[in-house]
Amino acid sequence: MKAPSFGYIKARDLGQVFDLLEQHGDEARLLAGGQSLLPSLNLRLSSPGILIDLNGLTDLGGITETATSLVIGAMTRHVAVETSDLVARHAPLVAAAMPHIAHAAIRNRGTIGGSLCFADPAAELPACMVALRATLVIQGRGAERRVLAADFFRGLFETALQPGEILRAIEIPKAAADHRFAFNELARRHGDYAVVGLAAAAEADWLNLVYFAVGDRPVTAPRAAASLLRGDVDGAIAALEAELEPDGDLNARPETKRHLAGVLLRRAAASLRKA
Ligand SMILES: Cc1cc2nc3c(=O)[nH]c(=O)nc-3n(C[C@H](O)[C@H](O)[C@H](O)COP(=O)(O)OP(=O)(O)OC[C@H]3O[C@@H](n4cnc5c(N)ncnc54)[C@H](O)[C@@H]3O)c2cc1C
Repeated sequence: MKAPSFGYIKARDLGQVFDLLEQHGDEARLLAGGQSLLPSLNLRLSSPGILIDLNGLTDLGGITETATSLVIGAMTRHVAVETSDLVARHAPLVAAAMPHIAHAAIRNRGTIGGSLCFADPAAELPACMVALRATLVIQGRGAERRVLAADFFRGLFETALQPGEILRAIEIPKAAADHRFAFNELARRHGDYAVVGLAAAAEADWLNLVYFAVGDRPVTAPRAAASLLRGDVDGAIAALEAELEPDGDLNARPETKRHLAGVLLRRAAASLRKA
């Protein structure tokens, strides 16, 4: 199918983006890499009146660091995240996840901001951001607010973004010396969305297990994490069975997903163990 007709404007600055969002309200959609938005238009799942293209806004791209955080602009392409030395050094979980996102051609265009704002519950990056306790920097006209990744994902394809706001950047706390992480997913073919996936990160006194493709948003497993932090892998698997209630989908039934979640946890345990 072909997309319905729509207007198109390539924004020259953020001020114009906010003007256009105000002017067109619900009829407007932001265009980043277009790798999720354009297929959804072609499938006629959405029919916006106008696309506001963010690709001219170079200020929204790039990877920098502060003393404590890695800062990734929303328009940074997946390929730039995947090949960044800063990301590999300070957020190795993200570096490990990147090759699992779709295929190279999609990663050349798709952006980290587009992935997070699309909020697909089977996507890798939302789970990584929750596991790493990242903060999402949201920009409205004349106002900026910061939202923890755990509070950003509100439901199926739903986020904390309000009308008139955009995601500007993501701040990820730099990995400490004792940082441990594990990333793994089970997919039918490499590059497909996961049947079940796990992004996990740990430091001295905390451990986050965040599953994807098991619910309507990234799903944490705090009781399993507490057992794992004590070194009790079997206890963690038992806790996981009690606390995870996966939704079934076209790929697998809930029982299969629960079983696979346990398999991923066992695989991750060794990497998450304290030195
Ligand atoms: C065949 C195929 C396979 C794929 N497989 C995977 C996969 O395995 N894992 C995975 O995670 N993804 C997968 N994707 C999706 C891909 O990662 C996309 O790049 C990503 O989901 C969207 O990024 P984008 O930059 O293309 O955003 P777009 O498609 O341009 O936008 C997506 C949504 O986010 C909004 N948006 C974009 N940027 C902003 C912003 N800065 N502020 C506010 N709203 C914004 C848009 O308005 C739109 O609603 C796949 C895509 C395809 C086509």
